[in-house]
Amino acid sequence: MMPEPVLEEIRDEVMNWNGSGMSVMELSHRSPIFRTIVEDAESALRELMSIPNEYKVLFIQGGGTLQFAMVPWNLMKNGRAVYIDSGIWSKKAADEARKYGEVIIGASEAASNYIRIPDCSKMEIPSDADYVYICENETINGLTWRELPDTKGHPLVSDQSSMFLSEPRDVSKYAMIYAGVQKNVGPSGMVIAIMREDFIPKEVDPKMPVYLSYDTHAKTGSGYNTPNGWSIYCCGKVIHHLIKTGGLAAAAERNAEKAKIVYDFLESSKLFKSPVEPESRSVMNIPFVTGSKDLDAEVGAAAERAGLIGLKGHPSVGGLRASLYNAMPKEGAVALVDFLHSFEKEHGK
Ligand SMILES: *Cc1c(COP(=O)(O)O)cnc(C)c1O
Repeated sequence: MMPEPVLEEIRDEVMNWNGSGMSVMELSHRSPIFRTIVEDAESALRELMSIPNEYKVLFIQGGGTLQFAMVPWNLMKNGRAVYIDSGIWSKKAADEARKYGEVIIGASEAASNYIRIPDCSKMEIPSDADYVYICENETINGLTWRELPDTKGHPLVSDQSSMFLSEPRDVSKYAMIYAGVQKNVGPSGMVIAIMREDFIPKEVDPKMPVYLSYDTHAKTGSGYNTPNGWSIYCCGKVIHHLIKTGGLAAAAERNAEKAKIVYDFLESSKLFKSPVEPESRSVMNIPFVTGSKDLDAEVGAAAERAGLIGLKGHPSVGGLRASLYNAMPKEGAVALVDFLHSFEKEHGK
């Protein structure tokens, strides 16, 4: 979802951006006015997240999935990195990384089918490991990290795609944060990467396409080629909206309140339950099950008829999943619980 006031602003500007007589979709990416849009989105993000000066903000096309390759191809200088296996997205990232070097699984919850974030307290990290990789919110499994793993001084790389800008984070604890913007910020087709400057390699595999080198984007202000201008523009609007509505601390409060409404219901329900242990539960993505595949499908179909869209779980895991991204109002969580409550009653529970 996008915040409604932002959609209205975009609608009002779509024919004529800022008196330019042109739509943002028509602006040349080399024009000074387009550069203003990129610089404004970046400076708003720096303000919202308090990003330290020694970090670069990059706007890169290709989505989260391309980062699964760009991260190891650029950053595995010694040829090995530690990945924490916390669910489907970290597993996909590790599988892709194996094409570029040695992947050491530092900790895994595959055996429990990912009902909690792996315990990393006894994790062994080889001294020459290039980085430690986590997926900070496992979108499909509905898990989130409450405390970052101790990387023993190794750079931490975090995929924040499904929790980006949902609560405050101390950027200085990471060497790199990246997020596909489509879950919480703006239109699909782009990633925002925040990278410590000294972590961006100047020399890369000579066979690497120039577009895939982080240094290409860092050196050119994300302007080496034609960027995804529309997405950058919309993301900028959403970032400004977050600043106007109290910043990330206020967003975190709103998100926690919405999630509590749904989890409290699941705790009290006799029909539905959360497969995830309480201390690892995601605030953004809430999977839940009835215990019967057929009944899960029935719930999904009945919900859709009632106007609650997109509750079907990811095909890889089944069940049901409610996503409560930033722009979902509290009323959405309340409507879901009301619906599930009635469904449960109708089924005699
Ligand atoms: C959605 C998602 C991705 C993949 O994003 P694409 O832009 O579709 O490639 C990667 N990581 C996480 C955590 C996601 O939720």
